[in-house]
Amino acid sequence: MSLALHPRSIKAAALVGSGLASFARTRRSTEASILTFHGLSEGNGDPAILDWALHLPVEVFRDICCMLAKDYRVISMAELIDARTRGTTLPANSVVITFDDGYASNYELAYPILQEFDLHATLFVTTGFLDGDDMLWFQRVDLALGRTRKELLDWQINGRTLRLYLGTRELRQQSLLRLMPELKELTHSELLSEVDRLEEALGVCEPGIDELPKALRPLNWEMAFDMTLSGHVDIGGHTHTHPILSRCDSMTMRAEIATCRNRILAEIGELPVAFSYPNGGEDDYTRETLLLVRETGFKAACTTVSGRVDEEVSMFQLPRYGSPESVWEAEATVSGAFETLKDWRKNCVKAMAMI
Ligand SMILES: [Zn+2]
Repeated sequence: MSLALHPRSIKAAALVGSGLASFARTRRSTEASILTFHGLSEGNGDPAILDWALHLPVEVFRDICCMLAKDYRVISMAELIDARTRGTTLPANSVVITFDDGYASNYELAYPILQEFDLHATLFVTTGFLDGDDMLWFQRVDLALGRTRKELLDWQINGRTLRLYLGTRELRQQSLLRLMPELKELTHSELLSEVDRLEEALGVCEPGIDELPKALRPLNWEMAFDMTLSGHVDIGGHTHTHPILSRCDSMTMRAEIATCRNRILAEIGELPVAFSYPNGGEDDYTRETLLLVRETGFKAACTTVSGRVDEEVSMFQLPRYGSPESVWEAEATVSGAFETLKDWRKNCVKAMAMI
């Protein structure tokens, strides 16, 4: 495990060490939490990839699973949906484990750990990625910035010039972080043209899906089917090509959701019950998206908006916590310690104002 801890993990370690996580786990046991992961990685990362945030070190994931198996009740998305639909009580301290996109590392690295601790996870897959048709658009951007021989690019986007420094790996990572939010503002068709234009300007060809660095490779359908047979995994939808749905026209949005559902049904032999919105923020889906997801037969959908799952939440806007970077952050998250601390601070401010 890396010793360079993010400040959030240091704060989390303090919350766990002080006993606040245990206190919160008891006080907030009726609330469920959903955790989001993407890929897992081995070793110190691959220099060919600029953004490692989506690929958690496998040993951290193992520590998290060990903690969840010991002190929490990991349930499937289907159990969560069933309990919320029937109005029955969830087991105390329920946690749902989810993975987005559909990386091969879910099978190669995460699945053996799920089996070891007898835990369940939902994999929200981008079906065109598993079909091997295309890599994900943000992978193309990462690899284009990582592989170019250019050291500087002045890029016109959203009516302004973005100066992208590319002289070192660190500068490329910073340029990627500046460019991504700009790209996400575009409509989906504009975004795809922009990625083509960017690759051309950087003198980089789109790599074939077989040439992707190991951590970026997709699951294949055999892997996905094999995992579902074990009972440790179920497959949910995450669109067909991973557009941000609120940036799509109605026809594209409908096709992305329906094709995703149909491909999962064809390959796994079962209708997927849950969906997760790409990017998943409040502005990344619309009311029309929620209706289309429901109409297509999904029973629930997850966002990436942080929060607890209580009786008040909408089944088509389920909150999910982002991937924790350490076992302490995972424990402070699922126990509700972060929220408890926030509530205490709020109450303190109120009390001070009354003095
Ligand atoms: Zn995604």
